[in-house]
Amino acid sequence: MKRSALSKLGEFGLIKQIENICRKGSRDILLHIGDDAAAVRTGSKTTLLCSDMLTEGVHFELKTATFRQLGHKILAVNLSDIFAMGGRPKFFLLNIAIPAKCSAGNIKDIYRGIRALADRHGVSVVGGDTTSSKGGLVLSGTLVGDADRAISRKGARPGDGIFIAGTPGDSAIGLELLRQGKGNKVKGTWKKYLTRRHLMPEPMPLTRRKDVTSMIDISDGLLADLCHICDESGVGAVIHKDRIPLSGELVNASAALKKDPYEYALKGGEDFILLFTSSAKSRKGAMRIGEITKKGRYIIDAAGRKKMFRAEGYEHFK
Ligand code: ADP
Ligand code: MG
Repeated sequence: MKRSALSKLGEFGLIKQIENICRKGSRDILLHIGDDAAAVRTGSKTTLLCSDMLTEGVHFELKTATFRQLGHKILAVNLSDIFAMGGRPKFFLLNIAIPAKCSAGNIKDIYRGIRALADRHGVSVVGGDTTSSKGGLVLSGTLVGDADRAISRKGARPGDGIFIAGTPGDSAIGLELLRQGKGNKVKGTWKKYLTRRHLMPEPMPLTRRKDVTSMIDISDGLLADLCHICDESGVGAVIHKDRIPLSGELVNASAALKKDPYEYALKGGEDFILLFTSSAKSRKGAMRIGEITKKGRYIIDAAGRKKMFRAEGYEHFK
């Protein structure tokens, strides 16, 4: 396929076409391509399978990330997908393409970063593949988990609340601070917190899941990922801008950069926090930012003005 065709199609258009080629396999496939992880029946259990990669020059630069941080992050992004299915992570495999500039010590540091996070979540590293790379460093992780009930993007119903378990936008502004280097006015402590949110995200599972009707992790951006839930569930959404939880660090750093914090919170990606819908009125540890409706996608600001929103966020090839 020509590059120009790919930029028209975008990442999500391409995945849709891949999905059509791969359609219909075994009856043991409970959730196919198109969710945060695939869900398959193995014996009496539901097994979850997800895969995510980090590519030098696209997802990270070796100037601004340590190898340990890269190890942490390649597992974290995969953990986030298993948590987004309401699952328990278990076994991890890492495929790694290594350019000549990396040493054996660098690669071992990647695994030290993985191991530290894996130990905290009861995950074992059980395999992978190692090759040389003529381009940059590429890390491709696969995580296997299980679930009593896999929570997909499909189950949101009109009347459900929309909840977010964390503060979105921190990672995106953290990335901007990393890219700018030393020459900005953002204070040391805010900068440290925000760049860490980008380099070492800490996905956490929801402990109570009974009332959760759909779930996704925010990787593309709050609006874009909410649109994924709406598309898959065939519903609409209304969210209230002033209910979106912003971290103090995001507010202070965006003021120093003379930027609107909501640009980061609504459209910035790689937060790896959970966005979910629930029949419950309120949820501990999560903020109710809106409601699922029959159709339409609207955001209401503090003055009560209602505007339509679209899936603005990050998409490869676009
Ligand atoms: P996430 O942002 O949660 O990691 P993606 O947007 O990367 O999810 O992927 C969405 C869905 O498309 C997932 O089900 C994923 O497994 C599937 N997918 C992505 N790339 C491919 C591919 N090259 N082949 C098959 N399935 C893919
Ligand atoms: Mg995901």
